[in-house]
Amino acid sequence: MPPRTQKIIVFALFCFLFCSSLPICAQTSILGFTASAAAYEIEIESKFKAIPSPDEERRQHHIFTAEPHVAGSKRNNELARYIADEWRQEGLEEVVIRRYDVYGSNPKFTFLEMVAPVHYRAGLREMPVPGDPDMKNKSISSAWSGMSASGEVTAPLVYAHSGNPQDYELLRKQGIDVKGKVVLVRYSNPYSYRGFKALTAEREGAAAILIYSDPAEDGFKKGKVVPHGPWGPEYHIQRGAITYDFMAPGDPLTPGWASIPGAKRIPVEQAISIPKIMAVPLSWHDAKPLLANMDGPIAPDGWQGGLPIKYRLGGQRVRVHVKIEMDNSTQPYYVVEGHIRGAQLPDEWIVLGNHRDAWVFGGVDPSSGTASMMELTRALGKLAKAGTRPRRTVVFCSWDGEEVGLTGSTEWGEQFADELRKKAVAYINVDSSTSGPNFHGQAVASLAPMLVETAHTLQDPSGKMLYDTWKDSTARERREAKQSEEVTDSNLADTRIGSGSDHTVFLNFVGMPVLGLQFDGPYGVYHSAYDDFFWMNHFGDPGYR
Ligand SMILES: [Zn+2]
Repeated sequence: MPPRTQKIIVFALFCFLFCSSLPICAQTSILGFTASAAAYEIEIESKFKAIPSPDEERRQHHIFTAEPHVAGSKRNNELARYIADEWRQEGLEEVVIRRYDVYGSNPKFTFLEMVAPVHYRAGLREMPVPGDPDMKNKSISSAWSGMSASGEVTAPLVYAHSGNPQDYELLRKQGIDVKGKVVLVRYSNPYSYRGFKALTAEREGAAAILIYSDPAEDGFKKGKVVPHGPWGPEYHIQRGAITYDFMAPGDPLTPGWASIPGAKRIPVEQAISIPKIMAVPLSWHDAKPLLANMDGPIAPDGWQGGLPIKYRLGGQRVRVHVKIEMDNSTQPYYVVEGHIRGAQLPDEWIVLGNHRDAWVFGGVDPSSGTASMMELTRALGKLAKAGTRPRRTVVFCSWDGEEVGLTGSTEWGEQFADELRKKAVAYINVDSSTSGPNFHGQAVASLAPMLVETAHTLQDPSGKMLYDTWKDSTARERREAKQSEEVTDSNLADTRIGSGSDHTVFLNFVGMPVLGLQFDGPYGVYHSAYDDFFWMNHFGDPGYR
């Protein structure tokens, strides 16, 4: 039986935790190790490799994906206590749950209707599909955007393509102004962060932004859709926050310091990361009637999407009514923290984190990563109980509110910045760990060679070495993206690390080396309810390999 994908993630993390001053692992020798130290190290690693199991991964994954668990929800808080209990049983030390009181953003009411030229009320719901019992769960939320403004408007609708600045330039040239209007944009053509689309629309003076998933990007134009394939079906809704966290991550009211209970808070009006625009994410099912009724010039070729209609720029005929009420009361988020004390260097820390909160079930994002982390803590706990500890202390964290604004990790990093600057050696991030077979390793340049070396020591589920499959899939992706850069050992790991996950505070605020691991593949259900246990067991990684 080939080694398992999940095992590879877990093992790659493991190598880093145990290796010495030059932490590079190989099967017969390890750079930075004497021959005898390397032999001992390899012996520990083989003991470790025997522990993680696909069945156990699947069991943990089922627990984390059993119910929707958005940040701040009762279920997400129950899962925090569950993780703490598991970690204590596994033998982790100093297990605590830390509380941060943050600016909340939860939907009370989201409403969208077309009032002219014909009436259409958007359902804003995702329909069940045969074979997936979770899609019948009554607690699946309807469409909403994290950090949307509250308000109400009835105004003409304009199609603004991907909602990037150049799209508004083109509209201007066509004599179409979006001030006071509602803009309809698609998610990724080309990709831009939905918060950037919202900020751009806000700066253009739009009253609201509707962001929909066009089938050309993640639906039937790509391939078979759920329940027959991995792509997004007609009703799938990509939820997500529009927080301007690229300006100030974390709790918007405590920029640069931790929002521990009682902390100083700035007035909401001064918070630069809170959008002033209303936003709603849409399935193509709800976007289609809007697009089909639009007037105005025919949109350019590059703006045409996958629906069988002529996309027009609009601006007159279609009028929509949007009403949103958000609950912005202060809300506690919970970060679970646990340690495995280092045997030789207890005051040097490797921090490893994964977020717990999900938009709905979080099959891939983030529960695949949470299952990986839980297998890692189980395995390390077992070794520690048997007397084999990592050289340095490992600090594990289950973050909260990543999806809202990288919130839990940012507040924790701000709270412990001084201690981290003294003790922390590196931060390892795992967000989604698995949505397909293609490995992606991100690392700051100083850690990239270690990641490449480790890939030489691990077998991919296909039977080849991880290094080879990583190189092949990276070359393929570069060809598809028409990048001419040849794949070499020095550019295999992605060292151009941006934001978008919980490593941000450590890289940008504390100033630590960071590393991130993920396998991906065809994945059209991101941030929708269809990203669940069924999807993982049919498409993402059916054997938890
Ligand atoms: Zn995530």
